[in-house]
Amino acid sequence: MNCITSTPSPFSLAGKRGLVVGIANEHSIATGCARAFAACGARLGATYLNEKAKPHVQAVTDELPCDFLLPCDVEKPGELEAVFGEAAQRWGKLDFMLHAIAFAPAADLHGRVVDTSPEGFAQAMDISCHSFLRMTRLAEPLMPDGGSLMTITFQGSEHVVPNYNVMGPVKAALESAVRYAAAELGAKNIRVNAISPGPIATRAASGIEKFNELLDAAENAPERRLATIEDVGALAAFLAGGGAGMLTGTIIPVDGGQHLLA
Ligand code: NAD
Repeated sequence: MNCITSTPSPFSLAGKRGLVVGIANEHSIATGCARAFAACGARLGATYLNEKAKPHVQAVTDELPCDFLLPCDVEKPGELEAVFGEAAQRWGKLDFMLHAIAFAPAADLHGRVVDTSPEGFAQAMDISCHSFLRMTRLAEPLMPDGGSLMTITFQGSEHVVPNYNVMGPVKAALESAVRYAAAELGAKNIRVNAISPGPIATRAASGIEKFNELLDAAENAPERRLATIEDVGALAAFLAGGGAGMLTGTIIPVDGGQHLLA
């Protein structure tokens, strides 16, 4: 019996265009997401932090249907605006966007939260949280028919995770920003969600002291394995598309059930 119907796949991203911010190299969570978006048929634009990072990002984007690759350090005035300007000029619209970036100065990341410097706290908050709101504001006019905005958080926002330190309050703020943005943009059919993966060995993760202990703990999660960038990518691709049309303001764990135990 022929089971093919004319119902569009809820997982297809054919004809959709998305921006991916946060690819550092082949191990990045943003890389797993970009590959999944591409596998579902999307065309992409991507960014790199600086000239040093560019070849590592290009090694990933060269294998994707990537229409443009631009520099973007969210601390540098005008660079985010240039990226969204390129999306507007090239595509005339944007269907989805992934924010997968975070940073805290080592001195603050490695100390107690109560000892965090005002400058370090502000920089971590600006790069890891407020940049998502800036991207959201730039995406909004490019999504007249709606769209999907995504960011990446961690359960250190809710629970005290050893050595996650200042990133805990920063991710808590990011998750709250997701909820407020979802409420503010819902009437425009713009959905805003965060994915909360379990620990994954990436370059950013290597900045967290004793990260191996987090990986060891995660291996005892109900599913008894570590999350991968492919696991995160699969959810991101779903959130980007029509199948997730009623999902907004959510923080979705991709951690094999570890959040149940924390
Ligand atoms: P990664 O090192 O591959 O990616 C981090 C990205 O942040 C890099 O591409 C880097 O260039 C970018 N970045 C840092 N400062 C920036 C700035 N000023 N402007 C623009 N980009 C900047 O590491 P990752 O683990 O893939 O991190 C992606 C996201 O996932 C982060 O938000 C991180 O907190 C989150 N996350 C990671 C894990 C994990 O275990 N790896 C778990 C949960 C959440």
